[in-house]
Amino acid sequence: MPLYKTKGIALNTYKLGEADKIIVLISPERGKIRAVAKGVRKTKSKFGSRLEPFTFIDLMLYEGKNLDIVNQAEIIDSFKEIRADLNKLKYGSVMLELADKVSQENEDSRQVFLLLLNALKELKTSDEKQALLLAIFELKLMSVIGFSPHIDQCAACGVNTKPGNLFSIKYGGLLCAGCIDRDPAAIPLSNESLNRLPEVIKATSHSWKDLDISEKSENDILKLADAFAAYHMDRPIKSSKLLNI
Ligand SMILES: [Zn+2]
Repeated sequence: MPLYKTKGIALNTYKLGEADKIIVLISPERGKIRAVAKGVRKTKSKFGSRLEPFTFIDLMLYEGKNLDIVNQAEIIDSFKEIRADLNKLKYGSVMLELADKVSQENEDSRQVFLLLLNALKELKTSDEKQALLLAIFELKLMSVIGFSPHIDQCAACGVNTKPGNLFSIKYGGLLCAGCIDRDPAAIPLSNESLNRLPEVIKATSHSWKDLDISEKSENDILKLADAFAAYHMDRPIKSSKLLNI
C-alpha cells in the first residue's frame, strides 16, 4: 500500500470493532480523509489522544481502497483550550461539523482547510466575540463554496441597489422595498446589524476582533449566518442547537 504524508485537522471519530477508530480528517490537498487508527482505544496506544477532534496533526497514512490507515501522527496543535472550555467547544463543534459537510474526498480543500485552521486559532485565544467569529466563519465558508450573500443590490430582483433591512435566506441576501412580499420568512435586521453586515462579511482573521459590534448584533448576525449555512447544506446544523441563539 502506498504511503503518503499530509497535514490534517481531525473533524470526527467513530468506534470501529473492539479497539480501533475511524478518524475523519480534512487535509489541504486531499480534502476529506477517512482513516482507520488501529488500537487507538487501547490504553497503550501509540496514538494516545493525538487523533481527537480539533487536533491539528502531521500524518503518515497508508492509502487503502476504502479507508486509509494511520501509520504515524504528530500533534502540531491539539487545540486543547477549545476542548477544555464548554463555550469554545460549542462554537468550535459547529465549525468542525460544517467543514465536514462541505468537504469531499480527493478534492483540493486548501481554502476550507485554512479557513477552519485560522478560525480555530482565533477561537483558542478569544474569550469574547465567539458568536461573531462563528458568524464570520459560516459566511466565509458559504462564499468559498459559491454562496456569497447579496447585500449590494436586492437579492430577489437584482435591480434595486438600495435593499432594506430584510434578509431572505431563500434569495440569499437583502430585499428591496418592492420585493418584501416575495419571501414572508425573510429575517428583519436591526439598523446596527444591517450596518455591520458588510464589515462582518469582509472581516479577516486579523481584522475581525476590531469590529465594533454589540452582543445583540453579534447574535443576530450569527442566527442569520447559521440559517444561511443550514439552507445551503440542505439540513439543519446539529451542533448549532447547543448555541442558544
Ligand atoms: Zn427587489
